[in-house]
Amino acid sequence: MTDKTGVLIVGGGPVGLSAALFLQKYKIPFILIEKDESESILPRARGWHVRTLEILRQVGLEDAVQAAGKAAWEQGGFGGARRGRTMLSSEALNMPSREAMMAMMGNDPSPSSFCPCPQSLLDPVLRQALKDRGADLRYGCALKRLTQDDAGVLAHVNNMQGVELTISAQYLIGADGGRSFVRRELGITNSQTAVETHYLNIFFRADLKEAVSNRTFSQCEIANEKVRGIFLSKNNTTEWSFHLEYDPISSSPIEQPDTQIIELLRSAIGEENLPIEILAKTTWSTGVRVAHSFRAGRVFLAGDAAHTMPPWGGLNGNTGVADAHNLVWKLAAVMQEGADPMLLDTYEEERRPVAIRNGKQASLRSDFDARFEIRTESNQEAFRQLQNLGTLQLKYKYSAASQEETGNGTVEQLAGQPGTRFPHAWITLEGERMSTLDLFGKGYVLLQGPTSTLSAQQVLGPAITRTKAYKVGTDFSFCDENVTWSTLTAQAGQEDILVRPDGFVAYGLQTP
Ligand SMILES: Cc1cc2nc3c(=O)[nH]c(=O)nc-3n(C[C@H](O)[C@H](O)[C@H](O)COP(=O)(O)OP(=O)(O)OC[C@H]3O[C@@H](n4cnc5c(N)ncnc54)[C@H](O)[C@@H]3O)c2cc1C
Repeated sequence: MTDKTGVLIVGGGPVGLSAALFLQKYKIPFILIEKDESESILPRARGWHVRTLEILRQVGLEDAVQAAGKAAWEQGGFGGARRGRTMLSSEALNMPSREAMMAMMGNDPSPSSFCPCPQSLLDPVLRQALKDRGADLRYGCALKRLTQDDAGVLAHVNNMQGVELTISAQYLIGADGGRSFVRRELGITNSQTAVETHYLNIFFRADLKEAVSNRTFSQCEIANEKVRGIFLSKNNTTEWSFHLEYDPISSSPIEQPDTQIIELLRSAIGEENLPIEILAKTTWSTGVRVAHSFRAGRVFLAGDAAHTMPPWGGLNGNTGVADAHNLVWKLAAVMQEGADPMLLDTYEEERRPVAIRNGKQASLRSDFDARFEIRTESNQEAFRQLQNLGTLQLKYKYSAASQEETGNGTVEQLAGQPGTRFPHAWITLEGERMSTLDLFGKGYVLLQGPTSTLSAQQVLGPAITRTKAYKVGTDFSFCDENVTWSTLTAQAGQEDILVRPDGFVAYGLQTP
């Protein structure tokens, strides 16, 4: 028996689940397989940037994810950094003002906002939504072998009982994480920078509610004669991750008994007899790895399967969700509308440079102070190269030439330039207040300024049948009287702008 589907997604992390939600929106049949029976309990990614929330807004999940994030922080919020010999004796870093920190995340207009939410709480929200919407999700099913030809992909999958099934699909998305089986099966190699630090991620339970009250943090760096590492908070009360630094040449702490690990944790916390329960452990290392290719035939890599980078700045998972968003509308165009399959080549052309740049920026944040915008004698060079996190997430420009054009592939201001995310403004359309971004998400959209002299038919030709067109003043108006078409698209100077389904500008026409 072979199950047939449109797209097979391998991996049920945030990237695979997001890809599934986007495919579902386009009504493309898909099957998602995940080798584990449930989500990982490790709270890895905790910071979801504005752009990720904008993307989740398109699939109706922005509020649910924000609610999960709000519930996560039982004490104190997400934020703040400390450093010391132990967690309990650590001192708060002299952080820039709250306004400066907000500016660091980017102040660009958006209908959405940054969401601090541990990945272990985000993934279940995405999974539940898919389930409620009738998705074919197969947990406990691992990909074991993969072949492809011109017509499609054949996947051999084992379920928990060891029963083998085969799934045939037109396309496959490998979202199977940093050790990607799909990538290795395809023989795709990586570029890899040197690994600076190896960590054992120890997720544990310990009641520190009283001890950290009024001293909550997002990150706390520890160094003493017994232990070096960093605490990342999960709820600032009872559940924590400690990332223990180790040298793989001289030690392998993952093999040490929990009793020894608990002793190390007590040394890092600074309380000798604290009851501690270890919940999960895994190893990871810094260094940036980017796949040389994001595609082989009908198989695509997305998220950690395509790139990994240190978590500093919280870039990697966010970059992965945007990968899936970029890929799925292109698959939909090819599978449903007969678009030229060459469109699929643009996935790698557009996303690989973003991964390379974000990887470099994540590495620059390896310096603990630089990560929190604190200048020191030793981090001057990093500061010279650091780019604003909001800019990295929101203001990149897709273009083969963009790196050369601007030196860093980003723009100063989003203003409707081809290759950039169309700017947000609140508008009224058919009596409803919404964001300009709410116009996008399915099919191309033509936006016309009030003085456009062209009809939508003239701009679009035969494509008018599958493109929505809206004209300022006729179909919608801006809610804020200070916003006009020319302030919004100031740098483009264009009256007719075609926007892709992912909200990025395809092209603009100069007013004749
Ligand atoms: C300590 C830490 C903190 C981080 N903080 C941030 C942050 O704040 N912001 C941010 O953006 N990123 C952060 N990251 C990075 C983020 O966690 C990853 O980028 C993200 O998990 C990638 O998602 P993914 O879906 O690509 O891969 P994963 O989450 O790794 O999911 C891959 C899935 O594929 C499954 N799988 C593997 N092989 C198979 C197979 N053969 N068959 C079926 N299923 C398979 C796995 O079981 C897994 O569930 C952090 C990472 C770490 C380690």
